[in-house]
Amino acid sequence: QNIQVAIDGPASAGKSTVAKLVATAFGYIYCDTGAMYRAVTLQAMHDKIELTNESAILAMLKQIEIVFKPGDPVQHVFVNDSEVTEAIRQPEITNAVSTVASLPSIRTELVARQRDIASQSNIVMDGRDIGTAVLPNAQVKIFLIASVDERAERRYKENIAKGINTSLSKLKDEIETRDRKDSTRKTSPLTKAADAIEVDTTSMNIEQVVKEITKIINK
Ligand code: C5P
Repeated sequence: QNIQVAIDGPASAGKSTVAKLVATAFGYIYCDTGAMYRAVTLQAMHDKIELTNESAILAMLKQIEIVFKPGDPVQHVFVNDSEVTEAIRQPEITNAVSTVASLPSIRTELVARQRDIASQSNIVMDGRDIGTAVLPNAQVKIFLIASVDERAERRYKENIAKGINTSLSKLKDEIETRDRKDSTRKTSPLTKAADAIEVDTTSMNIEQVVKEITKIINK
């Protein structure tokens, strides 16, 4: 069996940054499942589909391909032939994605695509339900957490670097709202797998987190 490293955790805990670095270090592929939910949300909004209209969103999803291409510092994301790498990170998408991610048939379809990607190679996959639902047999499961203040602070700095100035308290509210939606939905809610190792990154930098996860993988 391929080696599977599952990294789950709440919003803005640094999962994608760390997951990509770990994947590169081990020569594994990296799959950012959050980007897939974001791409569906972006396309639904573009097509003016109501975000609760499950059958319409599923029909749209069946028509699109979501493709990852390696890139530095971030992986590139495409919907069919259009690059959406930046568009899927817009605040409107971030604040709408949990609604789409709560639709059971959308999850079923994306989970099937995620397993298909994982069947091709050793992989690091990050998301909310990787260790619990997508890859329950993953050899390594990490649950990455950080205090909500620290996560809001990191998001704030990222935004400033992009020229976006959103108040810290608003970012904290948005993170808490998204975590609440993700943890209370009926299908595969965000929760730590029984056999996952929790890593609290509140007072760690990226390099330290990568080191810690590398140690866990090498055990
Ligand atoms: O990881 P990221 O913040 O990009 O994820 C965006 C959203 O996609 C999450 O807030 C959640 O609603 C959804 N998601 C999910 N299951 C995953 C990955 C992401 O429900 N495996």
